[in-house]
Amino acid sequence: MIILGIETSCDDTALALIETREVGGVFECRILSSLVHSQAELHSPYGGVFPTLAKREHEKNLPVLLEKLLEESMETQDSGSKTCPWLRTGIQEDNKNDKIPIDIIAVTEGPGLEPALWTGIVFAEMLSKKWKAPIIPINHMEGHIVGSLLRSDKSGGEWQRLKPLQMPALALLISGGHTELVKIEDRQDSLVTALPQFIYTIVGQTKDDAVGEAFDKVARLLNLPYPGGPHISRLATEARKKNISSSVKLPRPMISSQNFDFSFSGLKTAVLYAIRDAGKLSGDFKLGLAREFEDAVTDTLDTKLRKAIEETNALTVIVGGGVSANSYLRAQFEKTAAEYGISLYLPSKHISGDNALMIALVGAFHYQTRPRTIRAHGTKRLDNR
Ligand code: AMP
Ligand code: MG
Repeated sequence: MIILGIETSCDDTALALIETREVGGVFECRILSSLVHSQAELHSPYGGVFPTLAKREHEKNLPVLLEKLLEESMETQDSGSKTCPWLRTGIQEDNKNDKIPIDIIAVTEGPGLEPALWTGIVFAEMLSKKWKAPIIPINHMEGHIVGSLLRSDKSGGEWQRLKPLQMPALALLISGGHTELVKIEDRQDSLVTALPQFIYTIVGQTKDDAVGEAFDKVARLLNLPYPGGPHISRLATEARKKNISSSVKLPRPMISSQNFDFSFSGLKTAVLYAIRDAGKLSGDFKLGLAREFEDAVTDTLDTKLRKAIEETNALTVIVGGGVSANSYLRAQFEKTAAEYGISLYLPSKHISGDNALMIALVGAFHYQTRPRTIRAHGTKRLDNR
C-alpha cells in the first residue's frame, strides 16, 4: 500500500510517501521520500508563528514539494531492492501525475493553527478527487507518538519493522504547542492485524504555556532568534562547558503536585523578572540563565515522567515533539529509563519536529484498525504567542 502524508499544522510544510506491506503477519514500511520545508526564518521577525503567513506559504509550497516528492520517490523505487514499476509508469504516462496510484492520503486535521491546517486539508481533497484515493484525517499528536516507533527516517527503499512497544507505555509529547503525558494501552478486543491497536489516555498536560513555547519566549527575552529552543540549548551547553552557573534559582513548577500536569508560564515570568532585576545583561549572565532554565525544564519534565512511570507501571516511554531534539533532555530521559529498566524510544532528531512521515505512518495504522484515537483535545492556537 502506498500512503501520502500531508502535514501543515504549524509552520512546516511537509509531505511524505511511504510504502507498507505485511510479511508473515508483521507490518513493514519503507520511506520513498519525506520532505519538510521550514518557514522558521520567515516567522523569525515576529518571534512566533504568524498564522496567515503560514497559510500563504503552505499554499505556495505544497505543489512544489509534491513535484519534488514524486521525483525523489521514483529514484528511491529505482534504487531499491524491489522496484515498483507503477510509480514510474504513473508519472511517465501522464506528466500531470493524474494516474499515480496512491492508495491513501493521510492529512493532519489537528491540533494546530486553523488557517494552516486548512491548506493541507484542501490540498488533500484536491488530490483525493484527482487520484480517487480516500483521505484519512490524522491527529498530529498521535503522529508524534507513532513517528518515534520508526527505526530509521532515511528514504532509500530499505524495509523496516517498527520498534516493539511493551505495554503499558507512556508518551511524553513536548512541542511548541503541547506538553502532554499520554498513557498507551493495547486494545485487547481488537481484530487481529499486523499493526498494534492503541488506546490513548491523556494523563497530564500543561495548564498554560507549552514547554517549546517557554523556550521560545525565554529566547526572545534574551534577544535570541526564533525558534529559540536550539539557541537556549546552545548557550546552556556552553555554560556547562565553562562551568558557569546562574546566581538566580528558577522555580520547578508543579513538581510537588499530585497530578501529572505542567505549567510553564510562571517559569517564563521568573526569567523575565531575573532579566529585569539584572539590568545590563553580561554574556556570562545569559549563559548561566540559559543553563538554569534548561535545568529547570529538565527537572520538571523528568520528575513528572518518573511519577507517571511509577503510577502507570509503564514498560516503554516514547518521547516526541520538537523539544525532544534537546540533547540535555534526551540524556536525562536515557538515564531515567535505564534506572527504571524500561525502553526509551526517542525520535531521530530529523523527525522530532513536524514531518509528514509520521502522518503517513498513522494513516497506515488507521487504515487497518480504524479506531478514532486521541481527540483534538485542548487544542491551543499558537497565534497569540
Ligand atoms: P514542534 O512544535 O513540534 O514543531 O517543535 C517546535 C518547538 O521545539 C519550538 O518551540 C522549538 O523552540 C523547540 N525546539 C526545537 N529544538 C529544540 C532544542 N534543541 N531544545 C529545546 N527546544 C527545541
Ligand atoms: Mg508538532
